[in-house]
Amino acid sequence: METIWLYQFRLIVIGDSTVGKSCLIRRFTEGRFAQVSDPTVGVDFFSRLVEIEPGKRIKLQIWDTAGQERFRSITRAYYRNSVGGLLLFDITNRRSFQNVHNWLEEAQSHVQPHSIVFLLVGHKCDLEAQRQVTQQEAEKLAAAYGMRYVETSARDAINVEKAFVELTRTIFDLVRSGDIKIQDGWEGVKSGFVPNTVHSSEEVTKGSRQCFC
Ligand code: GDP
Ligand code: MG
Repeated sequence: METIWLYQFRLIVIGDSTVGKSCLIRRFTEGRFAQVSDPTVGVDFFSRLVEIEPGKRIKLQIWDTAGQERFRSITRAYYRNSVGGLLLFDITNRRSFQNVHNWLEEAQSHVQPHSIVFLLVGHKCDLEAQRQVTQQEAEKLAAAYGMRYVETSARDAINVEKAFVELTRTIFDLVRSGDIKIQDGWEGVKSGFVPNTVHSSEEVTKGSRQCFC
């Protein structure tokens, strides 16, 4: 059967170097814990379909920083063409938690007046004995920014699916309510086409396309 998607969402994954961004993306898209030998080379985008409701599939296009975050040289286009993102810190690295604020400011400064829908992620939760950031304080920070908080482990496959699916659902609701609009020339959200489905007027006026993966 053809794989057809309703929307494509472009997501970014940001946070300090070595917090585990590439491993989390690989766990989600490839289903395994892959050691990323050289963070500066390789493919920098990955994709996967997510079924958020029966028969409703969203194609996620997930961009990795390819090591640029080490030099704080992530480009404006990387942020501007994204609708959502995972903002990662490492629960065993307090500094990466303190830097969450800087990452958020940087992202916002690049996309204003628009905004990116972020989910705060405390990663490497398999390393409980080395924890430096409590779940409570991370939840408090997330709430202050109006975000949700999830703890994940790419190594032990904990909550990886949940993190991406929660973010996808949040964005989907915002698209459905019209708070996020599809715009020509913007890669953040693209509309697909599903046969025998009632479309919103927006999708119809945009000219529905048939999209296959
Ligand atoms: P990035 O620089 O943020 O992309 O980080 P990487 O994905 O390259 O991971 C940095 C290091 O953290 C690597 O040595 C990974 O093996 C390790 N790592 C990534 N995810 C996990 C995890 O869930 N648990 C543990 N224990 N280590 C992880
Ligand atoms: Mg990386």
